[in-house]
Amino acid sequence: MDFRLNKDQEAIQKAAHDFAKGEFDKEIALEHERTHTFPKNIWKKACELGFIGIHYPEAFGGQDYGVMENVLVTEEFCRQDSGIGIALSLSDFASEILLRCGTEEQKKKYLLPVAQGKMLSSGGFTEPDHGSDITLMNTTAVKNGDYYVINGGKTFITNGTISDYVLVLCQTDDQVKPSYRGQSIILVEKGAPGYTCADVGEKMGIKMTSTAELSFNNVKVPVAHLVGKENRGFYQVLEFFDESRIEIAAQALGVAQGAFDRALAYVKGRTQFGKKLAEFQITQHKLAEMATKIETARLLVYKAAWNYDQKIVDPKLTSMAKYYAGRVAVEVADEAIQLLGGYGYMLEYEVERFYRDAKIMEIYEGTREIQKNTIAGVLLGKL
Ligand SMILES: Cc1cc2nc3c(=O)[nH]c(=O)nc-3n(C[C@H](O)[C@H](O)[C@H](O)COP(=O)(O)OP(=O)(O)OC[C@H]3O[C@@H](n4cnc5c(N)ncnc54)[C@H](O)[C@@H]3O)c2cc1C
Repeated sequence: MDFRLNKDQEAIQKAAHDFAKGEFDKEIALEHERTHTFPKNIWKKACELGFIGIHYPEAFGGQDYGVMENVLVTEEFCRQDSGIGIALSLSDFASEILLRCGTEEQKKKYLLPVAQGKMLSSGGFTEPDHGSDITLMNTTAVKNGDYYVINGGKTFITNGTISDYVLVLCQTDDQVKPSYRGQSIILVEKGAPGYTCADVGEKMGIKMTSTAELSFNNVKVPVAHLVGKENRGFYQVLEFFDESRIEIAAQALGVAQGAFDRALAYVKGRTQFGKKLAEFQITQHKLAEMATKIETARLLVYKAAWNYDQKIVDPKLTSMAKYYAGRVAVEVADEAIQLLGGYGYMLEYEVERFYRDAKIMEIYEGTREIQKNTIAGVLLGKL
């Protein structure tokens, strides 16, 4: 057993760290936070340098690396700035479904431009009535000759208002039992007649990402836009979660580390009662607990990524990584605010933003309860 990163991975980690340090300017981040805008210029540069889609094959604009390398980039980006890091990490959201299930033609048309910084992707699974439980979809796609006709709606879709296409989970067979055996993933392009989207409104954190409601009103989509196999969509989404939840766990890990870094620097500089805060034993214990939690989360996230790259698909471990890293991000960011006192509550000092951005880790891509259901399900032999 060897816990060290290999030479390539060390180089990628350093490159991601240096890029984020150089480009994720604090004032620019605060401007995007205040205006709720996607950091487009930084995203373009990240794409040019090969950070986005690093895990895609070279033929589709990637660098042939795996989930582990994608995790290292995500962690470093989110550590430097939770808002920019998460926005960049989600810029290619759901594209791995195309990577795994798409045709060569679909990959050339829709995956390559994502890695090149020419397109943003999104994935539409959640509906107003179906969040944790996506076994039955109200959004339907009915085949009519060479087209599917899509009707229905999705909600909370990341990149919804700014993405160039969305991979939509639809019910294509409403007779089959159980109903999830009748779902398919269909790609819908921005601008398709009958497809509209609108921002869901103000949210707690990740303000540099768009979160949208999508509406499909008799949207005609060529059958060539079916991604993967008809009526296998539910399974394709679950397979995607096996990978994507590791990336979300990496976001959480980076957010936790970034909040810790700021708290550590602060307690070394701030004096109260004639002593640096770092000299109080209670502060030292807080730092020790935070660092231990982060390191434990890192071990889980890296192991889940390493397993995935060895083709050892382990939903239990993936869920453990996402559940635990998400919890750690919230707890560490909370403690970081506490260590900064009143300053921690201020936007300017960043940790309150890390805290607000951390919370989504326990909600999207499966809530923490759903992760525990998966872990318990495997332990009890039910999954
Ligand atoms: C900012 C943001 C971005 C998002 N991005 C996307 C996206 O890009 N694409 C997409 O498809 N979705 C996206 N989502 C949706 C997200 O994945 C869902 O919100 C999430 O899966 C939970 O679904 P829900 O909100 O309907 O909550 P519900 O499913 O109604 O759950 C409410 C509560 O009940 C609990 N619960 C539900 N079922 C069980 C159970 N069986 N056992 C125990 N507890 C249970 C949940 O854990 C939760 O605490 C996003 C959401 C947000 C807020």
